[in-house]
Amino acid sequence: MIYLNNKKYLLFGYYDYLTNLPNRYKLLSSHDKGKCTIAFIDVGNFKLINDTYGHSFGDDYLKAIANMLQDIVGNSGVVFRFSGDEFIIRFDQKEKNLVIEILNKIIEGFKKAINVNGKEVFTTVNIGVYESNGNESLDDILRKADIAVCEAKRRGKGQIVFYEQKMEDDIRRKALISNELMQSLKRDEIRVVYQPIFDINKAKVDMIEALLRWDNVILGNVSPSEFIPIAEENGYIHELGKYLINEVYRAFNYLNSMGLNICISANLSPRQLTDDKLKDELNGLLLKDMDFAKKVILEITETQILSNESHNIDMLNKLRGLGIKIALDDFGKGFSSLNNLAFYPVDIIKIDKIFTQSMFENEKAKNIIQILIFASSKLGYKLVAEGVETREQFEYLKTIGCDKVQGYYIGKPVDVHVLIDEIKRIESGANKNL
Ligand code: C2E
Ligand code: CA
Ligand code: CA
Repeated sequence: MIYLNNKKYLLFGYYDYLTNLPNRYKLLSSHDKGKCTIAFIDVGNFKLINDTYGHSFGDDYLKAIANMLQDIVGNSGVVFRFSGDEFIIRFDQKEKNLVIEILNKIIEGFKKAINVNGKEVFTTVNIGVYESNGNESLDDILRKADIAVCEAKRRGKGQIVFYEQKMEDDIRRKALISNELMQSLKRDEIRVVYQPIFDINKAKVDMIEALLRWDNVILGNVSPSEFIPIAEENGYIHELGKYLINEVYRAFNYLNSMGLNICISANLSPRQLTDDKLKDELNGLLLKDMDFAKKVILEITETQILSNESHNIDMLNKLRGLGIKIALDDFGKGFSSLNNLAFYPVDIIKIDKIFTQSMFENEKAKNIIQILIFASSKLGYKLVAEGVETREQFEYLKTIGCDKVQGYYIGKPVDVHVLIDEIKRIESGANKNL
């Protein structure tokens, strides 16, 4: 009997019946807590190959991979079949350079077709490596090699990644954020702040952007750039989206009651575009209050639209049918293409702060902003420049005919209850000459 990952295993043998490689029990029983380097080899596509060509072909394919690994590693290390399509190589006290050389050969080996029963099969591989200085349990070593392999997969295909403590810290922080986030609304830790957007021609703040804020007991303030992607992964984005849209509606009514009838934009993340519950929630509010529909703007990024282009364009058209306006957020960051501007059903383009903030150092960024201003006016879009932080940036954008600006120079995001005073301050141009 042997224990691994706190589970009990009966020992049937130390060698894998299929590949003849030593198996995980052999790895465990031969672990002497000495210095070693463990490489976790994760082979892609195995399930697909099994499903496509059948299990017996899959077996032969694994044998071919085992042979290739053994040929490359030779006497420099020991290859183990760890589970299904996972292999481990253990190098005892080998130079790092030699290990890297061998692992590179494996990556190269996988780039070529693998011959299985006369058929050429292409597959992918990722490798995670952990160098142990000794005195560590195999569980810990494998966990760290596994963390490295996850990072390798995250980076793409054919990657070799060495474990770093930071990777583990990031995973722990992510897990903590994910856990705490699930209780954030119940604990009243989430609120919404609003950032003014200034229309240069009207010399008025005619739009505000709703932004989430989260203040947690353990983590303190966590930026939405960090927790939104995690909420997307764990599904909590649906709760957050529902909360946000109801808060925005409340803010809209509150501001109206104070005599301010203003457009409010809210950010939507990729999964929310396919969220029927959010659609229903929105629909409910819009049907109840037609005026609200005319004042809501939904901000989405181009990458989001591209992720499921025809479905998302369809969805945007439906939303616009309800009277909602759509803003293309962070334009210029990522894979923006002028070509898409002609086809996307949007009303507003928001140029990413990267452009605003580099326009004086980079002539091309400056030219791109000018081209976008020209293109937007021709295509009938309103243009917002984001991240305006200095008077110089503001003055320049004004001179070249930008419609709207947003950024710390105009005003930071604030609570809805101080927004009216903040807007008065901005519009009076107090000490800013807006
Ligand atoms: P975003 O939509 O591009 O929002 C603008 C971000 O830039 C905000 O950061 C804002 O505080 C910041 N910002 C505004 N003016 C300036 C400036 O002059 N200089 C600089 N350096 N930054 C400025 P925040 O609030 O941390 O939000 C970050 C991102 O998180 C947002 O980027 C948006 O993608 C996402 N996010 C925020 N709230 C929500 C939400 O309710 N739902 C979803 N799905 N995403 C949200
Ligand atoms: Ca935004
Ligand atoms: Ca933005």
